[in-house]
Amino acid sequence: MQDCIFCKIAGHEINARFVHETDELAAFQDLNPQAPTHIIIIPKKHIARLSEAAEEEIPLLGRLQYAAREIAEKLGVADNFRLVANNGRKAGQSVDHLHYHLLAGRKMNWPPG
Ligand code: AMP
Ligand code: ZN
Repeated sequence: MQDCIFCKIAGHEINARFVHETDELAAFQDLNPQAPTHIIIIPKKHIARLSEAAEEEIPLLGRLQYAAREIAEKLGVADNFRLVANNGRKAGQSVDHLHYHLLAGRKMNWPPG
C-alpha cells in the first residue's frame, strides 16, 4: 500500500535492521526500542490491523506467531518475552499495518497500561 511505512520496509524501499524474512513476512528492530530486545514482526501483505484480518488469513496469522517463537529462540530470549499487537489508536496503534511487538530483556509489568 502506498504511503505505508511497513509496506515500504517489506518491499526494501526504506531500510530497517532485519532479523528474519520469508516470502510473506518480515521482522526488524524497532526504531524506538522499549526493551533491550524489541522486534517488529509484520506480514508483507498490507492488513491494517488484526480486527481487519480475514478468515483466509488464518494460516498467515499462525506463521506470524510461529515466527515470533523462532525469532525469540534465535535471539536467545525464548524463556521470557512478550508478544503484543496494538489494535486501534486507543490501544496504542500508531502504524496502520498489522504488526506484533516482540519485547524481551527486562522485567515486564502487568497490566501493561
Ligand atoms: P504501534 O504503536 O503499535 O503501531 O507500533 C509501531 C512501532 O513501529 C513503534 O514501536 C515504532 O517505534 C516503530 N516504528 C515506526 N517506524 C519505524 C521504522 N521506520 N523502523 C522501525 N520501527 C519503526
Ligand atoms: Zn502496509
